[in-house]
Amino acid sequence: MFPEGGKVLSGVSPEEFLLRLSRAAEVRLAEPMAQHTTFGVGGEAAYYVLPEHPAAVGEIVGLCRGASVPHVILGAGSNVLFPDRGYPGVVISTERLTGIRIDGPYADVLAGTRIGELLVRLHRVGIHSLDFLSGIPGTVGGAVAMNAGVPEGTIGGLVEHVWAVDERGEISLLDKRSCRFAYRDSLFREERVPILAARLRLDGPAYDGRALLARRAESQPLSSRSAGCVFRNPPGDAAGRLIEAAGLKGFRVGMAKVSEKHANFILNLGGASSADIRKLIDIVRQKVYKSFRILLKLEIEVIDG
Ligand SMILES: Cc1cc2nc3c(=O)[nH]c(=O)nc-3n(C[C@H](O)[C@H](O)[C@H](O)COP(=O)(O)OP(=O)(O)OC[C@H]3O[C@@H](n4cnc5c(N)ncnc54)[C@H](O)[C@@H]3O)c2cc1C
Repeated sequence: MFPEGGKVLSGVSPEEFLLRLSRAAEVRLAEPMAQHTTFGVGGEAAYYVLPEHPAAVGEIVGLCRGASVPHVILGAGSNVLFPDRGYPGVVISTERLTGIRIDGPYADVLAGTRIGELLVRLHRVGIHSLDFLSGIPGTVGGAVAMNAGVPEGTIGGLVEHVWAVDERGEISLLDKRSCRFAYRDSLFREERVPILAARLRLDGPAYDGRALLARRAESQPLSSRSAGCVFRNPPGDAAGRLIEAAGLKGFRVGMAKVSEKHANFILNLGGASSADIRKLIDIVRQKVYKSFRILLKLEIEVIDG
């Protein structure tokens, strides 16, 4: 499970690697990823680290690169699927990187801040322009990486610039164009660039978050364990409609099930394995392809490790 000298680590012993890692942040060994994902599945990460300031993320990434240890950044874990066998490298949690600074028509938000927490803070000063994001259970960093959104808009549409870790492990500022936002995609997702913070515009139109959330609760299984929509909508269609039309609503593999309420949600009924969910994903893709000749693309991030 742990990276061993010569196998995964290059030029540094596992003891030295751990020592250097623990100088940058709290390190937990063999941390179960099921506890850090909304699916509630996934085995142990070899190292789970909790940096408390943005510069530490650069240090950790630099250490991992130097030792050829795989690493991944994790927000609220609301759009990821870790394997049952776990992750043989470093999971960098943004849990402790939280903070919001309102600066005129902008908010500077640290990556680990939950969207819900940001909305509450903005409501206190009478700002409702981000309320279209109500009910998205992720962090600001995860949302920017995924360009999360709803039909009303995406978080990428609000980004002015992003502080990220560059290839030298240093902090760099990326303007909106450099972020390459696309449908549930960005430079950060494509190239696994860690986001430290984002500057978001606050001067858009106001939304009624409560009404949007109520509407969403009518059509989505929000109280069950899931990672939201599993597949991206193909151009001009909806993945949920295709899955339902392929007769897969309620289809189960082990304790993983295609939701009856919204067919683009896969639910962990309790005790599902990551393998159950992956098998169900494969079946859904195959059946939809057979029925409609459309190959669904994943929206969630499947971590291989
Ligand atoms: C019930 C439910 C409803 C949902 N509804 C919606 C919805 O309406 N619209 C929508 O778009 N999504 C929705 N989602 C999906 C999910 O909440 C969003 O994609 C969310 O923004 C992911 O944020 P996170 O912090 O949980 O990211 P994680 O799941 O932790 O990570 C997702 C990806 O982002 C990367 N990432 C995370 N943090 C960073 C960072 N700081 N820097 C760089 N990369 C990072 C990860 O490496 C991973 O590739 C829903 C999920 C659930 C469970």
